Amino acid sequence: MQLYNSLSHKKEDFIPREAGKVSMYTCGPTVYHYAHIGNLRSYIMEDILEKYLRFTGLDVKRVMNITDVGHLTSDGDTGDDKMLKGAKREHKTVMEIAKFYTDAFFADCAKLNIKTPDVVVPATTYIDEFIRVISVLMEKGYAYEAGGNIYFDTSKLDKYYVFGDLSEEDLEVGVREGVEADGNKRNKADFVLWFTKSKFDDQELKWESPWGVGYPGWHIECSCISMKNLGEYLDIHCGGIDNAFPHHTNEIAQSEAYLGHEWCNYWFHVHHLNTTSGKMSKSKGEFLTVSLLEEKGYDPLVYRFFCLNSHYRKSLVFSWDNLDNAVVSFNKLIDKIVPLTQEPAGEIDKAEYDRLRKSFDEALGNDINTSLAVTAVYDVLKSKANATTKLALLNDFDTVLGLDMVKKAAAKAEAAGSSAADIPAEVLELVEQRKAARKDKNFALADELRDKIAALGYEVKETRQGTEINKI
Ligand SMILES: [Zn+2]
Repeated sequence: MQLYNSLSHKKEDFIPREAGKVSMYTCGPTVYHYAHIGNLRSYIMEDILEKYLRFTGLDVKRVMNITDVGHLTSDGDTGDDKMLKGAKREHKTVMEIAKFYTDAFFADCAKLNIKTPDVVVPATTYIDEFIRVISVLMEKGYAYEAGGNIYFDTSKLDKYYVFGDLSEEDLEVGVREGVEADGNKRNKADFVLWFTKSKFDDQELKWESPWGVGYPGWHIECSCISMKNLGEYLDIHCGGIDNAFPHHTNEIAQSEAYLGHEWCNYWFHVHHLNTTSGKMSKSKGEFLTVSLLEEKGYDPLVYRFFCLNSHYRKSLVFSWDNLDNAVVSFNKLIDKIVPLTQEPAGEIDKAEYDRLRKSFDEALGNDINTSLAVTAVYDVLKSKANATTKLALLNDFDTVLGLDMVKKAAAKAEAAGSSAADIPAEVLELVEQRKAARKDKNFALADELRDKIAALGYEVKETRQGTEINKI
């Protein structure tokens, strides 16, 4: 398989250190608020990568952190404490906020068919490990104390900017509007490993350390959680592209300084989801969450399908119109599968099966080209293979794509069958009249017809997938 590596800026053959096994690390969410769908795009694409590696027969162990301490609003260790901000906003304790938004994150992931990593570690459960690694960095001369805090000294490294040359603008982290620069730093790029002089008097979570009572900086958690669970060498580290600097750059600096050798071979970065007015963020414009998609009548898996139709290394523009287009394509796709679920089972055509599976495999094997993988799904449907072969392929592909294609088609077939059989003609006639009324924008009449339908014991609902009729 070929995978683009942010370290070398090119596609490389993916070769795990240990034959047949892959160690994979993902930066998890900072649990002070809901994830927006831009954050979730990264997790969807990482999920595809993990599942594709498994599809090819590799044994993957994946680890993720949960940031519940130490992440400030500026990635340059300044600004407000995100967790504290969340707690104040909702008049709860930091741990209550962490619990609530951790659960919300995994609920969103479940709706998007994102598998939970094998190991999930909240940062607050690894404080001793952070202190141990920071102590080693101090002993080795890679860290210093200034103004009560412990900093990593980036000038001690031969090469700090591992992901390539960064512009002055990229390096201005921490000197954004309203955020003061940290005068304790010896070098502009140095970063906090441990805070003892907190500027937040009401900092809730604090621990004893050799340098005084305090709390860890944000970056140290990922290095420690990865090394503790996956060992001294890591095959793939994933994250959103905005984490490449400073977060991942700092992870590499401290891990390699600690280990004394190279740490991670492949860096997989997912690009931004933009809105038509720029990069998506929690503070700007509509706060786009999975719940909002559902409130507006969208199936979360349509959003997953929308993401799969473009490459992870390209920015993707989200708009409601673009999502509506995805709804139309997704419904058409499911409609094509519906008749297959009605055919009697037959023998699998092995030659066709292998040929079609190979083109799917090659699409994803070429740097996770998901849109070509979706094309491979259409190729299956267009092929001359019998229904049994097609369904077997779709189920196989879906172990990676995670779209519930066959399940949805079967449910649709069943609903169509039962509605025709069980719903009285009188109700169906009223539903048709109501559709016409809605089309003419005669909503008063539409409401009247809805009430008549209800009086007959049925509920009619418009969804993005069409008109639904259910028995009350
Ligand atoms: Zn991280």
